[in-house]
Amino acid sequence: MPQYVGRFAPSPSGPLHFGSLVTALASYIQAKSQKGRWLLRIEDIDPPREVKGASDNILTCLEAHHLLWDGEVVYQSARTDFYQEKLHWLMEHGHTYHCECTRVQLSSLPNGNLCDCAKSIVSAQNSAIKFKHLEPILTFQDTLLGTQKFDKSASPAQFSLKRKDGLYAYQLAVVVDDIQQGITEVARGADLLDATMFQLALFKAFQASPPSYMHFPVVVNQEGKKLSKQNHAKAIDIKLASNNLCDALRFLGMNVPNSYQLDRPQNVITWAIEHWDLRQVTAKTARIDNRIGELDSI
Ligand code: GLU
Repeated sequence: MPQYVGRFAPSPSGPLHFGSLVTALASYIQAKSQKGRWLLRIEDIDPPREVKGASDNILTCLEAHHLLWDGEVVYQSARTDFYQEKLHWLMEHGHTYHCECTRVQLSSLPNGNLCDCAKSIVSAQNSAIKFKHLEPILTFQDTLLGTQKFDKSASPAQFSLKRKDGLYAYQLAVVVDDIQQGITEVARGADLLDATMFQLALFKAFQASPPSYMHFPVVVNQEGKKLSKQNHAKAIDIKLASNNLCDALRFLGMNVPNSYQLDRPQNVITWAIEHWDLRQVTAKTARIDNRIGELDSI
């Protein structure tokens, strides 16, 4: 068996909040319980959404919680030449087209259909480069959630690899990096479940075997919306690191004892690695699925 390689890939659009701590912790414990490596990749390829100081803040916060990554931190902003090279490869192999449609034009397109740009030659200027998503992969096995199926008629056929504004798109960068970093399992929040369909298609186009995927429950606020930097979720207080870790494990469904030994972050992490049990997390996920709209709020 090859060594397990996992990763945490935050976008520096703000400090870590409880929801992102849950994802970081879950992916870390999933990797370390299998004696694997856990890589940290800062997904900073979208400068308009970046918040100054957020990357350093995320690193400090992870260290305070004893979530210590293996190897060097990878910054996507330093890898744009690499993304260009891989995009060029996809272009040369007929997987792309230029598209100058606006969002409004695209929203009137029936799901599952490519716009007419895919059939014509659109000038490269002012256009996005999109993936010819003609053979979507409509099912995959999620380590936690079991068989997942996508509805072709309900999914957009097109997605960008390079945006009209010249920035490389998340789907391209994430797949190029997951391949290059040898990621064996992507463990992340269930808000990215749908993105898996696009990413699996890209793995196939690159003729690379995909990692396995697992999607953890997401933390929502009182209105039932996912905690996010955009809806101003409260930043994690690193002075409460042990408590935060215990809360995150409880959110995931683990039965964390109230014990004095858990008063230091590394002790919580050691306890979690020893007691990690995906059946408890799955039970929690099933409860959440049955209670949409009245989820735990933090
Ligand atoms: N950068 C993405 C985010 O912060 C996560 C990407 C991934 O895990 O695939 O939501």
